[in-house]
Amino acid sequence: MDLPQSFVIAESSHRIHNPFDSRKLADLGEALHLTPGQTMLDLASGSGEMLCTWARDHGISGTGVDISTAFTGQAQARAAELGVSDRVAFVHGDAAGHVAPERVDIAACIGATWIGGDAAGTVALLEQSLKPNGLMLIGEPYWRLDPPDEATVRGCYMESKDDRFPLPGLIDHFDGLGYDVVEMVLADQDTWDRYAAAQWLNTRRWLDANPGHELAAEMRHRLDTSRTNHVRYQRDYLGWGVFALMKR
Ligand code: SAH
Repeated sequence: MDLPQSFVIAESSHRIHNPFDSRKLADLGEALHLTPGQTMLDLASGSGEMLCTWARDHGISGTGVDISTAFTGQAQARAAELGVSDRVAFVHGDAAGHVAPERVDIAACIGATWIGGDAAGTVALLEQSLKPNGLMLIGEPYWRLDPPDEATVRGCYMESKDDRFPLPGLIDHFDGLGYDVVEMVLADQDTWDRYAAAQWLNTRRWLDANPGHELAAEMRHRLDTSRTNHVRYQRDYLGWGVFALMKR
């Protein structure tokens, strides 16, 4: 049970595996008015940057669960580097169906809502770990611009235009699940580049260092297609944000 190696190669230098940069992640932490001692569960925590920096900056504590052994190891190393290992823990495991043993103040899933099937399923999953009046954080893509054709939909790695909402539709969707959207921080095209374009250099360096590797052809193809898809489609058509929800 692990994340395919191709993702680990492409995102080997990333601390944040989503279209936020460190400034936006910090902005989100500030926007939520976090207080010392608050507890957090982060499903699909990646390399743990959110929990580690918010533990350092706001004194929260928490647990991250992720299926990648490589990212979980990086998260543990980052916690040690930032001096917060006593307050955050990172567990390797499948986050699908994961419920915290004790309810938390903040329950998050940033950029991995497939763990609950979709956004609605992930809201239902996180709800089981959240205290009454707790904050739920969902990181999710939306259509920034209406995709005009099938090529745009596919270039954004979607099967169908209906796989995503436009921003007002996504807010309405959360509303329909019985939640108020109480805050949001959105990626922009430059922070998208920090996620997407950073993968090109990681991949190219890996290819140069690993000629003849069994994944070389796949990684070469990925470099070429992901670059085209990003500059032609994703960067313009796909928005991404983190939405803070409170149950009505
Ligand atoms: N939330 C992190 C990582 C987002 S990338 C961040 O914003 O930086 C998506 C993450 O989901 C990857 O770290 C991947 O390993 C993890 N993942 C994918 N499927 C998973 C599953 N079933 N259970 C736990 N983690 C999963």
